[in-house]
Amino acid sequence: MSNWVDMLRSHYNWCLNDRLTQYAQQFIQGDYCNIRTKALACPITCFVSKNGATGEPWKNSGDKNPRRSAGMIQDAALPTLKKARPWYADIDSTVLQQNVKRLDVAYKNFFDGRGFPKFKNRSNFTSFTYVIGVKVQGNKIYLPKLGWMRFFNSRPIPDGFKIKAATIRKRQDGWYVSLRIEDRAVPDYIVKPFTEVNNIIGCDLGITKLVHLSDGYQIENPKFATNKKTKVTLKIRQRRVNRKAKGSKNRKKAATNVGKFHKKIADKRDCYQWYVANKIVSRNVDAIAIEDLNVSAMKRRCKPKVDEESGRFLKNGQSRKKGLNRSIFDASWGELVLKIDYLAAKHGKVVLKVSPKYTSQKCQNCGHVDASNRDGEKFICTQCGHFDHADINAAKNIRDRAYSIVRVDCPELKRPKQCKELSARPRGNRVEPGNPSNRDIKSVMS
Ligand SMILES: [Zn+2]
Repeated sequence: MSNWVDMLRSHYNWCLNDRLTQYAQQFIQGDYCNIRTKALACPITCFVSKNGATGEPWKNSGDKNPRRSAGMIQDAALPTLKKARPWYADIDSTVLQQNVKRLDVAYKNFFDGRGFPKFKNRSNFTSFTYVIGVKVQGNKIYLPKLGWMRFFNSRPIPDGFKIKAATIRKRQDGWYVSLRIEDRAVPDYIVKPFTEVNNIIGCDLGITKLVHLSDGYQIENPKFATNKKTKVTLKIRQRRVNRKAKGSKNRKKAATNVGKFHKKIADKRDCYQWYVANKIVSRNVDAIAIEDLNVSAMKRRCKPKVDEESGRFLKNGQSRKKGLNRSIFDASWGELVLKIDYLAAKHGKVVLKVSPKYTSQKCQNCGHVDASNRDGEKFICTQCGHFDHADINAAKNIRDRAYSIVRVDCPELKRPKQCKELSARPRGNRVEPGNPSNRDIKSVMS
């Protein structure tokens, strides 16, 4: 399996390079040729597939879109690869195809606005995927071309489910397999329309406490990677690596030890986040409102400050920020939000992402926005004297913003302009959806 991963990684990198080269050629020569004959005459210089790849650019069948995508071209080139490098024939063919698909996904993500596909090294390419032929019997699993092997069956497959895909992944302490299963008889989860959303809970994500809910409930943040004990252990284990001779077996062993410790922390965090997500989602609400945080921007480094006279670098607060960045990393809100999304869909609940702007500075009572409203964990409004726990106040603001989103979509109250004015108005008679008397007020005002 290790050999496979190495070979697949090199194949992935080759495919990526193929596409990059193709793109560069088009960049130099221009995208002048869109005619079939020209493409046949000079297939290498003709840029015919959107994200590049050399090879036969046209499909055989009379499809509407006769162009092949880069993925299809590279898929079709697999037999040639096996001929040129016979050891690739050992790898199951669907695994190789999935490897090309993986690059397709990376490109798709890029076109959707995420990062450009990267060349993979040993540390970030550790898995491969089967789509057919995997069988499970008790504590044994069959992987095509690898054969039967024992494994720890942590969760038996329920009756009626079929294995759709299996991903084999190498982690610090061994190999893991995750199976994707499907049962067509099970109905899809139905997401509630906004009109049926009556009560919403707001979640404010934080570091001292992981989550503050708008109903006053708080969820602890155990700080798996940044608590004192873990930090010390990690430091000691890292030091053991550094003190061993470079390239020695003992150094490798010590490094594995550090890796295992990191994995343990990650596993603990994962487990806890499922617990937290479950706790939030299983509340008696129709929708969950979360801030739409840009975590990578929060983790950005401080800008360097340069002394104009001497040209030396001045302190810019980065050393302080480093600790905060680590805490943000440790809280891993993004992962938590993904889990909440998943569980909410399962429960038929709606997840609303709202803008986090001024949620911690705005008074929940009168709508006054001021940085001095907040003093650590305390929140005291400088205008109306309303006081609350700062983060719970923020959670309530998030909840109210979500209400305003839902209200806009609600057909009987479809007055988006009105809603904007309402949210800017002081709270004297704030409109609460689902409360009939308040709805009456609103219709009178309009
Ligand atoms: Zn106030």
